[in-house]
Amino acid sequence: MTKTIHEPAREIPVIHETDVLVVGSGPGGLSAALAAARAGVEVTLLDRFGCFGGNITTVGVEGFAWYRHEETVEAGGIGWEFEERAKAMGAAVPESQSLSYELDSEGFKLVADKLVEEAGIHPMLHRVFVAPIREGSRITGVIVESKAGREAVLAKRVIDATGDADIAHMMGAPCVKTPVEQMQAASVMFHIAGVDKQKFMEGVKADPQTYANWSTGEWQVETSGKEDAMFSPFLAKPFAQAIRDGVIPAHLNTIGGTWGAVHDSGEMTYMNLVHLAGIDGTDPDSMTRGEIEGRKQAMHAIDALRAYTPGCAGARLRNFGMTIGIRDTRKIDAHHNITEDETRNQGRFEDTIGIYPEFIDGYGVLILPTTGRYMQIPYRSMLPKGVEGLLVTGRAIGGDRIAHAATRNMACCAVAGQGAGVAAALSVKSDCALDAVSLSALHGELQRQGVRLH
Ligand SMILES: Cc1cc2nc3c(=O)[nH]c(=O)nc-3n(C[C@H](O)[C@H](O)[C@H](O)COP(=O)(O)OP(=O)(O)OC[C@H]3O[C@@H](n4cnc5c(N)ncnc54)[C@H](O)[C@@H]3O)c2cc1C
Repeated sequence: MTKTIHEPAREIPVIHETDVLVVGSGPGGLSAALAAARAGVEVTLLDRFGCFGGNITTVGVEGFAWYRHEETVEAGGIGWEFEERAKAMGAAVPESQSLSYELDSEGFKLVADKLVEEAGIHPMLHRVFVAPIREGSRITGVIVESKAGREAVLAKRVIDATGDADIAHMMGAPCVKTPVEQMQAASVMFHIAGVDKQKFMEGVKADPQTYANWSTGEWQVETSGKEDAMFSPFLAKPFAQAIRDGVIPAHLNTIGGTWGAVHDSGEMTYMNLVHLAGIDGTDPDSMTRGEIEGRKQAMHAIDALRAYTPGCAGARLRNFGMTIGIRDTRKIDAHHNITEDETRNQGRFEDTIGIYPEFIDGYGVLILPTTGRYMQIPYRSMLPKGVEGLLVTGRAIGGDRIAHAATRNMACCAVAGQGAGVAAALSVKSDCALDAVSLSALHGELQRQGVRLH
């Protein structure tokens, strides 16, 4: 049995009160906060780190819409705005495999600051959510911890955008956590400098990789067939060669994946090459192991790139993401859990809050939206069971594995976030429960905000 201590009850200062409190500022939470503020209520956006943006800015995940092709049909809305604002602020470059722009993980910090400021959102960085404040089954605020100690923030509605459903879990809402041995791999993301862009691109053109190449070595990936011959910025050969030549240890046969953007300055960013199995993003000891092992593996990957990739002889580490990248932890058991069938077969819902193109990436499946097919995202997938005053958005919404392989993507998190933000605002304004928000009002405000629902 774990040894315990008794922590005495104590008075906690209430430092702030708000209409809608959004905890977590990734693509889900940032969109939720912006949408709620634009719908006319007071909004507070809280995050444990020193910047907004979640995985975009803290992990270095820059590929926001790398699925986009000629026929792709999308929701528009705040997700679209993220790319447009980033482009306008010099924080995005054309993406190599799609019709999208890759976000600059550093520049996006400034984009997010500007969006938050313009919307009049109250920013609260450097505070970690540690416990909900409740009246029975209703959440009325959160307790946070920081350098300032333990403090309380009260809110009429709370949106859990922590990615891990931290708040829903602590409120006792039923959640599903993928068993650790089946969790999608965690990644230590890194960026390099000192690349000769021209030589690198000549190398890519001389030996172009495709999505079919994803099914080599360690991975087997199911596609719909139409993806197989398409170009992918995939890198595996240098690492296989490095293992054959003894440059990197043989057991590191999981190193491989995609490069992001290669810049004129010689920087190559969003190096998604390190994949760590068995890391649980809700267990700090597991994440400690992942951070340290991931950094070691990243340095091995750079050794292999230097030795075997054209243009990379002078490459060196520029920076790691400021935290390990976690793909897969808890999901809520929502009022509607999106199914594989709905994800693969264009699910339609009366309570749609936006559409998402047929893009599935995860659990061994890759399908790209090259045909105009899309699904709708139901509002009920963000409503946790047995809890009032709380919505969950971003990658923790309700759904099975294949649904999650679609909804975890950042542009889908932005669709869900915008829906959650508008619903929370309407629920405050009309003083009704979150599960009683008028669908016609929800649809009307989302359309006013530029979201395609059908
Ligand atoms: C390595 C990697 C590569 C990926 N590649 C892609 C890709 O190419 N394209 C794509 O679309 N998606 C990709 N994804 C998936 C995508 O990044 C995530 O699923 C998505 O960012 C989830 O968005 P979110 O808003 O739900 O959560 P997150 O982006 O994880 O944001 C959660 C926020 O909540 C904050 N937070 C968490 N807990 C607390 C707490 N207790 N108190 C206060 N704040 C808290 C965090 O600091 C963070 O800012 C990738 C993921 C990883 C890890």
